[in-house]
Amino acid sequence: MAKQSISINNLEIELPNCNLFIGGEFTPALSGATFPVEYPGSEETIAPAAYAQPEDVNQAVLAARQAFESGIWSRASAHKRGYLLSRLADLVEKHLEHLARLETLDNGKPYSSALGDIRSAAFCLRYYGQIASTIEGESLPVSDDHLCITLREPYGVCGLIIPWNYPLLMAAWKLGPALAAGNTVILKPAEQTPLSALKLAELSLEAGLPPGVFNVVNGYGEVTGAAITSHPDIDKVAFTGSTATGKLIMQAAAQSNLKRVSLELGGKSPVILFPDAKLDAALEDVFDGIYDNQGQVCCAGSRLFAHKKIKEPFVEQLTARAQSRVVGDPFEEGVEQGPLVSSEQLERVHGYVESAKQQGARLLTGGERLNRKGYFYPPTVLDQVSNSMTVAREEVFGPVLSVIEFDDHALDSIIAAANDTDYGLAAAVYTQDMDRALYIGKRLKAGVVWLNCSQKFDLVAPFGGYKQSGFGRDLGRHALHEYTQIKTLWMRAKP
Ligand code: NAP
Ligand code: MG
Repeated sequence: MAKQSISINNLEIELPNCNLFIGGEFTPALSGATFPVEYPGSEETIAPAAYAQPEDVNQAVLAARQAFESGIWSRASAHKRGYLLSRLADLVEKHLEHLARLETLDNGKPYSSALGDIRSAAFCLRYYGQIASTIEGESLPVSDDHLCITLREPYGVCGLIIPWNYPLLMAAWKLGPALAAGNTVILKPAEQTPLSALKLAELSLEAGLPPGVFNVVNGYGEVTGAAITSHPDIDKVAFTGSTATGKLIMQAAAQSNLKRVSLELGGKSPVILFPDAKLDAALEDVFDGIYDNQGQVCCAGSRLFAHKKIKEPFVEQLTARAQSRVVGDPFEEGVEQGPLVSSEQLERVHGYVESAKQQGARLLTGGERLNRKGYFYPPTVLDQVSNSMTVAREEVFGPVLSVIEFDDHALDSIIAAANDTDYGLAAAVYTQDMDRALYIGKRLKAGVVWLNCSQKFDLVAPFGGYKQSGFGRDLGRHALHEYTQIKTLWMRAKP
């Protein structure tokens, strides 16, 4: 597949090579299989991408294994790996606009958001480049006639399976620590959004990553993803996506070779709002927390527990804001919300809204796809939701806020309601009473808790779930530990 470009709104966007990237070369699938890549803003197919079958995944594993065992990466100094990662980060920044356009084309997110995502991806690669040489072991106080130390060693070949909501950023969250630690990797982007990963593959060559260290296999989860998770020569799989798929991945890992697994899965994050909160600031946060990225965010604040005293006016203002949100062509300046990623996603989201109405929720705004080409779904507010409705229990992954009212119950019953979910990714609490905020914050069963703020991220701050939101942590020094295993080394110290 030669390079080609596509024209969207008079904007010429050069497409990356859409083959598989194995052993430092772009190559079609052995079978010649392809699948279509679509622009969700127009429902048009923009390019065919090579579709990796199990035999292609096997080629990628051979390349990654060979690169790993050669030591060219795994035994290079951490400083050198870090340097090459930083070079890759520089190249991502150099190609910022191009990568952002590819991201908008693939995912449908507003171009301004895509720019932010790509910048964050570059920062992430650079951060792990910088801390690569901080991967250290310990010396342990054993008996005097021996010396005992620990080494943190890479696992080997890692399969990274990522979703479509932040394609390059989610890739960077996993590539950064996996590569910094000395592993070689096989990245499977989501079938909806392979373009930015393929461009990154091209840049990895320019940065000087040795062939086979970083491989990309495009394709559908059931075939390409499953070939990774069941492969006997992959040592670790890191996954971000749905809880249902996470469970399949654990099964496949267990049945093949007990490969290590880390899972960042879905959420149903509660936001608890008290009358004494700084309501204007809370409104901004609640709004962004559910509508940013078209609501396709694993830690979206999708269940708003609003105190009875302030619920009406708060929800009224929120609804008015939702109605004035600019939804439309994601390449157009000033557009705040683009299309959902796919027709399946549009149907899923709408199905949840319909089910909520049937179960007694009141639709305040939104609730119907826009009457135009593209998978546009407006910001939607559902009032009078109860925590037992399907919309409050399952991950909608779209711009749909469920409002659940609470009264002056005992604090513990509000906490119990917030925790009454299979998920445990994130939660937020708004109250100026810090004793109360901390009391609740310590009792929420979630991997991330925000008090009087929301959707805060930083490269140094670990991110991941409790309960069925998964295990293992992305970001921070913690993520480095997800890609290393400990060797205990004993030495005799006696003549
Ligand atoms: P998904 O199935 O979890 O997809 C995530 C990744 O896993 C994709 O790369 C996917 O490939 C791959 N995959 C799918 N089945 C697999 C399998 N059996 N073995 C190995 N890999 C597999 O999510 P989805 O189908 O795109 O979306 C469905 C729902 O998942 C959404 O509505 C949302 O609720 C949730 N979701 C959550 C997140 C999150 O960040 N927590 C992200 C995305 C989706 P393909 O894309 O090629 O199928
Ligand atoms: Mg899928």
